[in-house]
Amino acid sequence: MEASTGLIGGSASHEFMVISEVGEDILVYCENCEYGANAELEMHGPGRAFGGESRSIEEVKTPGMITIDDVAGFLDTTCDGVLKCVLYVVGNEALAVFVPGYREVSEAKLMTALGTDEFHVMRDDERDLYPTITPGYTGPVGLEGVRVLFDAEARGARGLVCGANKLDYHYTGVEEGRDFTAEPVADIAGAVEGDLCPRCDGILKIARGIEIGHIFKLGTKYTDPLKVEFTGEDGALHPVIMGTYGIGTSRMLQTIVEQHNDEGGISWPKAVAPLPVQIVVVGPGRPDQAEAADRLERELAARGYQALVDDREVSPGVKFNDADLIGLPVQIVVGKKLADGKVDLKTRHTGERRDVALEEALEGFERALAEAP
Ligand SMILES: [Zn+2]
Repeated sequence: MEASTGLIGGSASHEFMVISEVGEDILVYCENCEYGANAELEMHGPGRAFGGESRSIEEVKTPGMITIDDVAGFLDTTCDGVLKCVLYVVGNEALAVFVPGYREVSEAKLMTALGTDEFHVMRDDERDLYPTITPGYTGPVGLEGVRVLFDAEARGARGLVCGANKLDYHYTGVEEGRDFTAEPVADIAGAVEGDLCPRCDGILKIARGIEIGHIFKLGTKYTDPLKVEFTGEDGALHPVIMGTYGIGTSRMLQTIVEQHNDEGGISWPKAVAPLPVQIVVVGPGRPDQAEAADRLERELAARGYQALVDDREVSPGVKFNDADLIGLPVQIVVGKKLADGKVDLKTRHTGERRDVALEEALEGFERALAEAP
């Protein structure tokens, strides 16, 4: 994902994201090409058609209609045809930000457009400070004495509904270029699902993600001031070009667990499982079971597999639950069936359980491990 360089700086940075409902970031990505970006600096193409047919402007009474949905419903249109106004205070100045009714203002983009993060949505108690503004009914037609900023999609839009700068009134049929000019303009609205990809004809998707890696192109940002140089083939000194590459190892563990679990607990993929196998000894006080478990543990070790052995004096149910909770890829259960020379093999991922002869337990385990994800 294309990402913000933040405090570290440099010319570009990329985050490596795992899509997950519990992720703390919002991602915008294309299913058709490799475009992907953190929502902080996403770019998007047009989505739904904004506005409608060209027609004449008309003032209509919209008593008490403050939200986009109220107004759209009352005027028998949808939020696709409403020019939404969000009022901000930048420093001490009011700013009316206009975006399509079906989008939200991206404050990260607004920060870039304004060149400052010293702004906030106008609070109710601040409204009296700006008497020229009619909150809830602010529109660009005839709006004076207030700083404005338009999302790029407002350019050329027709047939819009917007506030009439008068309590309880809206305009319909508003047209950019005729009734107002979208100036200044910037990309300040966030992407919505279904927007076109900025790189191809694909459709953008939006998801939450967990950041597990982040790399930056630092160039000579740090090596220039620190005079970190090397002698090139030409015999001259050149600055070292620097990059930084971070992997969040502890986050990766959490992310893997987040993606590989069921109601029983963790189900480790074998590539990252702490150990490949758990031996559950159902009756550790019984010499035959204790010996068989010992033997299995040694034979596994001889083949390079370290086993976790549960020989606690607790009920079988507790051990089975704990084995599932811990989630090693394969479990070998040494229990009653040992009387018939058999043990149980369980694959954690599928829950599949079958008995095998003790002598074949090792081969059975290797097969089960090979099949495990
Ligand atoms: Zn694309």
